Order: sequence, then C-alpha cells, then structure tokens
Amino acid sequence: MQAALISHDRLKPSFVDWVVRHRAKLQPHTLFATGTTGGLIKEACPELDLTPLKSGPLGGDQQIGALIAEGRIDALFFFIDPLTPLPHDVDVKALIRLTALYNVPAALNEATADRVIAGF
Ligand code: PGA
Repeated sequence: MQAALISHDRLKPSFVDWVVRHRAKLQPHTLFATGTTGGLIKEACPELDLTPLKSGPLGGDQQIGALIAEGRIDALFFFIDPLTPLPHDVDVKALIRLTALYNVPAALNEATADRVIAGF
C-alpha cells in the first residue's frame, strides 16, 4: 500500500511518536510525506521507505493531493492543528476534499489514525 504522512507544527512531536509506535506496520509500505514532517520521520525511523515532498506551505499538500488524484495513495495520516491559523489553509482544505472525492481513508487525528493503521 501507499500512504501519505503529514503533521502541522504543533502536532509534529506527537505525530513522530505515533509513527515510531507503528513503524513495524508502516515498514512494508511506500510512504510519502510533506517536507518537514518527512525529515523528522526519516531521523526517527530511517528504515522506512519514505519520500519527502515539498514542505506543506510550499506546495507539499498539493503534491499529495495530486498523488491522490492519480490513485497512488491508499490512506492519509494527517495530524491537523485545529487551533492555529495557517497560510496554506486552502491547500489543506483542497487535500481533504480530494480524499473525500477519491474515497481515500483520511485520519485527521490520533484516534482515527490508530483505527486506520489497524487495518494495514
Ligand atoms: P511540513 O508540512 O511537514 O513541511 O511542515 C505540513 C503542513 O503544514 O501541511
């Protein structure tokens, strides 16, 4: 399977912890991540097959949206910060819209991520 991994700044520590906790489940899969999130994951779990794209505010969310539109993503794990205004809010909204359009499981918090990864 192919999965996309993203986290907003305030959630990055808990997202990296989540990835570390589920590294064995993620290991057989092809992973894509936005730039900063991907860099942190690679440091914590160098064994993962992970391709970092651009940073979210620089177009990374849109790159992942394009992968979804091409049918190349089976699940999105995205720890979203509901309390901080973001310059690229429209990109986040567009990405979530594409997960709805293409029926891709989108885990936007840890509780959902735990349930989606359980099916991997
Ligand atoms: P980042 O992007 O991983 O490069 O910080 C995430 C985002 O803000 O969408």
